Amino acid sequence: LEDYGIREALEKLGVKEINEGTSTGSHWFGEGELIESVSPVDDQVIGKVRQTNKEDYEKVVATAGAAFKQWRTMPAPQRGEIVRQFGEELRAFKEPLGKLVSYEMGKSLQEGYGEVQEMIDICDFAVGLSRQLHGLTMHSERPGHRMYEQYHPLGIVGIISAFNFPVAVWSWNTALAWVCGDVCIWKPSEKTPLTAVACQNLIARVLKKNDLPEGISCLINGNYKVGEWLTSDKRVPLISATGSIRMGKIVAQEVAKRLGKSLLELGGNNAIIVTPDADIKMTVIGAVFGAVGTCGQRCTSTRRLIVHEDVYDQVKEAITDAYKQLKIGNPLDQNNHVGPLIDKDAVSNYLNALDQVKKHGGNILVEGGVLEGEGFESGCYVKPAIAEAENHWDIVQEETFAPILYLMKYSGDVENAIELQNGVVQGLSSAIMTTNLREAERFLSAAGSDCGIANVNIGTSGAEIGGAFGGEKETGGGRESGSDAWKIYMRRQTNTINYTTELPLAQGIKFDL
Ligand code: NAD
Repeated sequence: LEDYGIREALEKLGVKEINEGTSTGSHWFGEGELIESVSPVDDQVIGKVRQTNKEDYEKVVATAGAAFKQWRTMPAPQRGEIVRQFGEELRAFKEPLGKLVSYEMGKSLQEGYGEVQEMIDICDFAVGLSRQLHGLTMHSERPGHRMYEQYHPLGIVGIISAFNFPVAVWSWNTALAWVCGDVCIWKPSEKTPLTAVACQNLIARVLKKNDLPEGISCLINGNYKVGEWLTSDKRVPLISATGSIRMGKIVAQEVAKRLGKSLLELGGNNAIIVTPDADIKMTVIGAVFGAVGTCGQRCTSTRRLIVHEDVYDQVKEAITDAYKQLKIGNPLDQNNHVGPLIDKDAVSNYLNALDQVKKHGGNILVEGGVLEGEGFESGCYVKPAIAEAENHWDIVQEETFAPILYLMKYSGDVENAIELQNGVVQGLSSAIMTTNLREAERFLSAAGSDCGIANVNIGTSGAEIGGAFGGEKETGGGRESGSDAWKIYMRRQTNTINYTTELPLAQGIKFDL
């Protein structure tokens, strides 16, 4: 813990060896069982967090509900000012928080800092948004009538997040939800509870300094059972859930049962199409970062490379060469490109996927495997692998959350590549590498990529917060972050006002008394 300044980071962030896991702001409580946070970097227990029990949960929801009554009446720009201050806090604590993200989750230090930067960026975005929660005005068909729409706060937003972006996803939701006038209850991944404790400490300080009530930012901890309390709770009108498709299907049904709203951000199976006119150097950088960055544990990680036969051998050689230069090891050491997988279960999923590729008859171009020996004691470090595979194989159709890249060939027109790229159940991120305008535009057209994100001459991963983020099909259809993603955090109301002494009915209906 000393070597990379983790102990110091924990101290600065107010994360203790044993933490109460339930919080309504500055107030922490809970008697539940302890969840251990084990770093995949070196297998050390970083700290422990108490799981939320049902009684604690009830206290949280009651406090959040009471806070909402006050928070919703505060003018949105003033709520924006609170989010602005939170952004300042994140700026001040970027280094320790980024470090803890890297150590608890296992992503590179640069990506840890990048994740905190994303939090800062969304706060800035939300501050501006707090003055732009616009509705439309419409022309009424009736004389002396005015019609317009407005957006009102929704209530309690339940946020369920995944381990791979342990803090950014929370902020994408909260920064917008708070300016929209909602209060939030966060259930982070049970694999990354300490970064959540750290975030809660940062926002609690801001809320307290501004004399705001407990309940605006709440934290609950535990596994899927704690998540289920949120999804089945009628008092929580919106559930924003990020994670696997398996989880999303359960959450969607649970929330639908009570006709709640859900925002689902689920798995991807992202491809880059490489056309004959692609810039191969750019392609290699985009594909390698996309496939091995965060050890293949981004929802937007590049899983498939669909390459035209004319450039197939060239791309294959360039990319396998690039893999030879990859350094795998402690992600806090900035010389390394690839850190560990999150845990041993993830390692066995990775090994199982490679086995299945071989069983299907896939040609392994870059051999995988688990690394052993000094520096790899946690057993979570694996070699990024590349295999030649076919799109329809079951294993290629699935998202394996690990650094395995499938290479496949297409011939003829770009439509053939688009068909392959769309031929999976997921629809998150996609990219085309081409200098041919016609191909690029076809890829972006209505007959092109069916994903929520479609890029030209950029890889599949690394979205900016200014755009709406999310995907189609089994990725869940939700949108977070920029553009008009804020609308899901509010309820829409249409208002018609009659300023005459008559009461004409719409559609010209006559009703004389
Ligand atoms: P996971 O589905 O195992 O868990 C995600 C969260 O859901 C955790 O907090 C977990 O406790 C909770 N959960 C699980 N079952 C639940 C249930 N029945 N009810 C309520 N809550 C439940 O996912 P993970 O392994 O932490 O994360 C990896 C997955 O997340 C990948 O599939 C990845 O693609 C996806 N992901 C998607 C996005 C996106 O924006 N589309 C972003 C990040 C991660």
